[in-house]
Amino acid sequence: MTDRLPGFSTLAVHAGAQPDPTTGARATPIYQTTSFVFNDADHAASLFGLQAFGNIYTRIGNPTNAVLEERVAALEGGTAALAVASGHAAQVVVLQQLMRPGDEVLAARKLYGGSINQFTHAFKAFGWNVAWADPDDAASFERAVTPHTKAIFIESIANPAGSITDIEAIAAVARKAGVPLIVDNTLASPYLIKPIDHGADIVVHSATKFLGGHGNSLGGIIVDAGTFDWAKDNKYPMLSEPRPEYHGIRIQETFGNFAFAIACRVLGLRDLGPAISPFNAFMILTGIETLPLRMQKHCDNAKAVAEFLSSHPAVSAVNYAGLPGDRYNNLQRKYSPKGAGAVFTFSLKGGYDAGVNLVSNLKLFSHLANVGDTRSLVIHPASTTHSQLDDEAKVRSGAAPDVVRVSIGIEDKEDLIADLDQALRA
Ligand SMILES: *Cc1c(COP(=O)(O)O)cnc(C)c1O
Repeated sequence: MTDRLPGFSTLAVHAGAQPDPTTGARATPIYQTTSFVFNDADHAASLFGLQAFGNIYTRIGNPTNAVLEERVAALEGGTAALAVASGHAAQVVVLQQLMRPGDEVLAARKLYGGSINQFTHAFKAFGWNVAWADPDDAASFERAVTPHTKAIFIESIANPAGSITDIEAIAAVARKAGVPLIVDNTLASPYLIKPIDHGADIVVHSATKFLGGHGNSLGGIIVDAGTFDWAKDNKYPMLSEPRPEYHGIRIQETFGNFAFAIACRVLGLRDLGPAISPFNAFMILTGIETLPLRMQKHCDNAKAVAEFLSSHPAVSAVNYAGLPGDRYNNLQRKYSPKGAGAVFTFSLKGGYDAGVNLVSNLKLFSHLANVGDTRSLVIHPASTTHSQLDDEAKVRSGAAPDVVRVSIGIEDKEDLIADLDQALRA
């Protein structure tokens, strides 16, 4: 090895992994076991008391999952990470460490639809309040902060329109409020944006999307930036107060700059239980090896498709931050210079019926509710994911009746354009 710090593509292939010490296996093995034998009674006691690191039970940790955790922590520039069963599991495990009934999470109004449901319904049922602010206006976050605010939650590239968030402006609000900034980096992936470099304290992912990248495995990741002082003002007792079940240790005091990742594991995963299957961790790890190649191709294809659509007579508007003149183009050049991602929306002159016809006539694009697959995907939000909203709410969330959302895959761009062209004519 040399003294050089490895680059992103090298980390994507190697970080966290080494040949298996007992068999020499070069690919990371799938440790498909629920539990791990202790060396002796003292070893068992020290593992249970958090005095030693090691494997106990796969709900709390597993060697395959550990490689995935170390790899994503390296790619995001965090101190540690935790893999969980899904992106939604990551969000609930993170907030469970920070929130008590009556506390408030302040969230960007533009979020993945499933997150809006989770925040609006499940979190309210936990007694957590949710306040909303406009991610295009950092001052709206500042105005919404209250003494009960415990966290700010945004997406780096936001659903459904692929808009780019000014992370640094909202990080400044979080710092002033003394609360952590949580960034959902699913649509960007660390290849495009590393939120920790812009002031994020915690990064979450749906690894189901671009990290895994092949539309075959659910997973979620939590990354700890190691930057936040959890003991300050005793605002986060889960991290700062003695833990009775662990002989009275204080998590922040004991684990320092990876305390948050530890809390998510030894309190969150332990008690809530959304562990990732080692098989899914293996699939996502394999996906990450080609993340830089795929992500660049996703972006290049998306730009070509957006350019085609913006000059098409059946299309009234294209929202893609990678197009010059788009309202997010300056933010894209600052935060995501390698490309604007693969997910965007466009509007059809023919309205609702034209949207339904388009998804019905496309042949290469798959009509389904996902993003971040190798395959190109399409959905008409007004008749599916957003059909429960009234017209005004549809428009506000970027899902007006004439809007179609695509997630551009890694096929040949000429084939994608030809498919869209035939479907728009049909
Ligand atoms: C899909 C998605 C989630 C939820 O992830 P799951 O793995 O489906 O639970 C959260 N945030 C964003 C931006 C997503 O695209």
